[in-house]
Amino acid sequence: MELINPANGRVFKEIQEDNANSVAEKIRLLKKHQKIWAGVPLNERLAVISRFGELVRQNKEQLAETLTRETGKPIQQSRNEITGAHNRIEHLENQAEKWLAEERVSTEGTTLELIRYEPLGVVANISAWNFPYNVGYNVFLYALAAGNAVAYKPSELALLTGLSFQALLEEAGLPKHTFEVFIGGAEVGSQLLDNDIDGCFFTGSYATGKQIASQLAGKMIPLQLELGGKDPLYIMDDIKDLEQAAKNAAEGAFYNNGQSCCAVERIYVHEKVYDEFLGHFVEEVNSYPMGDPMEGSTYIGPLTRKQQPAYLLSQVKDALQKGAKVLCGGSISRREGFYFEPTVIAMVNHEMDVMKEESFGPIIGIQKVKDDEEAAKWMADTSYGLTAAVFSEDQERALRLLEGLNVGTVYWNCCDRVSPNLPWSGRKNSGVGSTLSYQGIRAFTQPKAYQLKLGD
Ligand code: NAD
Repeated sequence: MELINPANGRVFKEIQEDNANSVAEKIRLLKKHQKIWAGVPLNERLAVISRFGELVRQNKEQLAETLTRETGKPIQQSRNEITGAHNRIEHLENQAEKWLAEERVSTEGTTLELIRYEPLGVVANISAWNFPYNVGYNVFLYALAAGNAVAYKPSELALLTGLSFQALLEEAGLPKHTFEVFIGGAEVGSQLLDNDIDGCFFTGSYATGKQIASQLAGKMIPLQLELGGKDPLYIMDDIKDLEQAAKNAAEGAFYNNGQSCCAVERIYVHEKVYDEFLGHFVEEVNSYPMGDPMEGSTYIGPLTRKQQPAYLLSQVKDALQKGAKVLCGGSISRREGFYFEPTVIAMVNHEMDVMKEESFGPIIGIQKVKDDEEAAKWMADTSYGLTAAVFSEDQERALRLLEGLNVGTVYWNCCDRVSPNLPWSGRKNSGVGSTLSYQGIRAFTQPKAYQLKLGD
């Protein structure tokens, strides 16, 4: 496989891809070694994860450079991701023993009733490139903590990061063949699913999630899907500091070049504050430095996927044809590499792709609404259900609206945020199942019921 640097479009490394035989051999080894790993006491498994966290910290600068080279993520945002993902490790250190412990449920007469949480076995983790630390840790660290072996298929666009996870886990003391990396794209991912796996945890697009679900139908193994979103944010008319609200909303939309599953993808603004909000918002977006992602000052780097600038341009053209107005950006940048100018589009409506289809780039449509009822109607008008946000001075008013939305996470006066203490889950086309929180610890286990007759 050729690895391409999105900042200049040039190949910077070649790497040997897996094939059906090597995939089957890795699964065979994982199957064998999972049983040994499951027999290691939980506190020792957690110690390996803690040491892994320390090694990641020690190697942060080099790991950040690798991530930036392969995905184009601005270097400061790569550092932030690596530092931020550590909270998953702390969550496991603090919570795993509690939620994986045997539960004594009751004694019915002379029968003792227990639940033990057994690992699933070999867990396939097919992952995305946009936040490989965050979405990777959500799955493979939690799976390892519970005693599973992990078949990790990083995105073909974040392969070197995936290989460094393996190297550091083994350096931290994880026995060999407990975590294997599968190198390749869709074909290798699909070959992996043809093998004898015991669970599949996927992070990626709705289209791929659907294919995986149909390939696994009939296998009778747990399947969790963390998919895309078209996440709305609504600015109510009572906001006092519109400038700060615009800054926060813009960060939610443009951080990591808009390539976050929970990025703000569309904004609704109450008509009373629309003009003022828009002014602050465009000013903020115009201030973002675009450039070489290896430069510390860069906020907007290249997009990771080569085809994405053309896709974003098609959304702009579609919106313009239907009556929208581009307030800034709107075109593919002249720089070499996969750059798209940060773009704000006004006078949008739900006839336009930019308000309906996941953009996954530095582009946002902002729609004027007359009241909360109209905002709620448009916020709900989507096939996705990942997150939704409301900015308001009035918590009750915001919650009234948010409670009615069919999404996995709601935000009041914040957005584009993931906490390890809370379940991370999508609804509708945004996915099935939860990672993180205690649900995410238990997600990698299967309960076994024990009924133990103690006497007559
Ligand atoms: P993608 O669906 O293109 O690829 C994801 C992974 O699936 C990659 O490793 C890819 O090689 C593999 N794959 C592709 N086809 C396959 C097949 N037929 N069988 C098995 N594996 C296959 O997604 P992406 O471009 O890597 O990631 C972007 C998407 O991920 C966006 O839609 C984003 O919203 C979503 N995402 C969701 C979350 C979440 O937590 N909900 C987090 C991050 C990203």
